[in-house]
Amino acid sequence: MRVIPISVPTPFYIGPVNVYLIPEDPVTLIDTGPKTKEANEALREGLRRARFRVSDLRRIVLTHAHEDHCGLARSLRDEAKNAQILIHSWETGHRASRLEYAEHRALLLRAGVPDEEVAAMRRMYEGLRRYADTLADHECEELKDCAELPFASGSLRVVHTPGHTPGSCSLVREADRTVIAGDCILKRVTPNPVLSPDPVDPSRRFPSLAEYLVSLARLRSFAPTLVYGGHGEPVTDYEELFNRYLRAIRERQAKVIQLTPKEGATAWDIARELFPQADNVHRFLAVSEAAAHLDLAHAENKIALEISNGREVYRKPV
Ligand SMILES: [Zn+2]
Ligand SMILES: [Zn+2]
Repeated sequence: MRVIPISVPTPFYIGPVNVYLIPEDPVTLIDTGPKTKEANEALREGLRRARFRVSDLRRIVLTHAHEDHCGLARSLRDEAKNAQILIHSWETGHRASRLEYAEHRALLLRAGVPDEEVAAMRRMYEGLRRYADTLADHECEELKDCAELPFASGSLRVVHTPGHTPGSCSLVREADRTVIAGDCILKRVTPNPVLSPDPVDPSRRFPSLAEYLVSLARLRSFAPTLVYGGHGEPVTDYEELFNRYLRAIRERQAKVIQLTPKEGATAWDIARELFPQADNVHRFLAVSEAAAHLDLAHAENKIALEISNGREVYRKPV
């Protein structure tokens, strides 16, 4: 099975996104790029080079619902007439809009983010909405864990790999152990465990880092030989990357525990200490990172948690 990577520009800090074309029946695009003129042109050019047109697409698979991955899905689907869009059902929170407002607001306030910062984060994410069309439930079919997506020359297995987002999925070609991993695996950076409501109970925070560690181990069980990520070059040594990710997570974990004072601190306090330079979008990612690490440390009984004035306060045990 051939996998043709197409690099598509994004207006975001992360740089270009990788979209993947499976050039056989049913012609499938994995991720789409953001809804910008530049992305649309680059995608069309990539398809043209592979001797395809948008109207040839039969299936659009979304690894997750961030704007850089899903932005063009609806317009491509409309142009391709009746192409399917597939996405995991746990991506709902991201699919309707990046910040499901009431739920995220409650989670951010509980994490100690001040009111004016929550308002600034909201404005920023409202601004991001223009980079993706909203997809209603009835416009998508469900990408189910362990399902097989059939192609003329074989199949791709869907592997639910939550962490970066709750509904992130990877596609595994078991015959040659090739993986298309979206933002679950990135060669140069450790993916951010983005703060999200738990899809099962949206009043709670999704335990993104604990889930992510399981996802990394699950992908490892396929002994991947080649992993195509959402950004940057493919990974040819999964074992090395797996160990590097684990090391980076462990080091950050130690740092977060060290920064947690005896007198107590919120995820926001820890985020400000971890990333003092972070501005706008990065403050949301910084608090996501801190909260994810605090959740894991608390789950492992390394720090204590109490709720004080509606905020989660973490303490190093004495
Ligand atoms: Zn993403
Ligand atoms: Zn991405």
